[in-house]
Amino acid sequence: MRELVVLGTASQVPTRHRNHNGYLLRWDDEVILFDPGEGTQRQMLLAGLAVTPIRRICITHFHGDHSLGLPGILQRISLDRVPHPVTVHYPAAGQEFYDRLRHATSYWDNAEIIPAPVGASFVAETSAGRLTARPLWHSVPTYGYRLDEPTSRRMLPDRLAARGLTGPAIGELQRLGRLGEVDLADVSVERPGQSFAFVMDTGLCDNVYTLAAGVDMLVIESTFLTEDAELAAMVGHLTAAQAAAVARECNVRTLVLTHFSQRYPDPSRFLAEARAEFTGEIVLAEDLARIPVPSRRPLDQTAGGETRNPA
Ligand SMILES: [Zn+2]
Ligand SMILES: [Zn+2]
Repeated sequence: MRELVVLGTASQVPTRHRNHNGYLLRWDDEVILFDPGEGTQRQMLLAGLAVTPIRRICITHFHGDHSLGLPGILQRISLDRVPHPVTVHYPAAGQEFYDRLRHATSYWDNAEIIPAPVGASFVAETSAGRLTARPLWHSVPTYGYRLDEPTSRRMLPDRLAARGLTGPAIGELQRLGRLGEVDLADVSVERPGQSFAFVMDTGLCDNVYTLAAGVDMLVIESTFLTEDAELAAMVGHLTAAQAAAVARECNVRTLVLTHFSQRYPDPSRFLAEARAEFTGEIVLAEDLARIPVPSRRPLDQTAGGETRNPA
């Protein structure tokens, strides 16, 4: 299953309807918690999620709305004796903040928490694919994250059958690339990997585009409306229209807008301004929403004669 569970969507301070940030990405076995703001532990409870499946925590930056929930989550992971290691990524320049949050209060430290600070050339291989990070433009060191599933091949049953290939022979062909007279390319088509990007707290900069390029799902901050675009640029934030223009230019499939300023009482204005820039799927994130990663892009018809390749 591949989905984003939204735990909180408020910038700076929680409101009556929006918790501090928090996003749980379920990508098959890889479960990544992004930016646990204050109250994330309880939001997970309300969303029906346990901490046990979490493999990785990614912090974009050490502002409270993106990281004050880290102590609670780490202590809960310890309390629940999560049996596998949990890796935590965060800007290397914020080591002192990580150290404090890691040991914010006294508790029995029963879990294996692996700190893995993020610097300029950060890459991590995960069970879901390659996780990379790029520096963004904000008032403190901030990184956006991107997950890329590797390209693989989809076997075509009719072509396998036509060549009399069944059972273990198929596995062998996949492994070797060629079996007797049959080339892997003759009986399969390329299956492009899916991708996901998480871009939080930044003014517009090149890396926003690098992170978002061609992703299936882009989760991106849209703190302000266009009427406050000048303020947004000054404090290192985006407007909904800017975020949507990024989605258009980067050929994003599902655009998830979040991190809304409480100064605007009517959230539909974010959607209206984004819609003017981007015709694809737009989701205004709401607390506790579950947003599916879209199914794979249709295969090239000429490559294999098939049009669908479900996730
Ligand atoms: Zn923020
Ligand atoms: Zn911030």
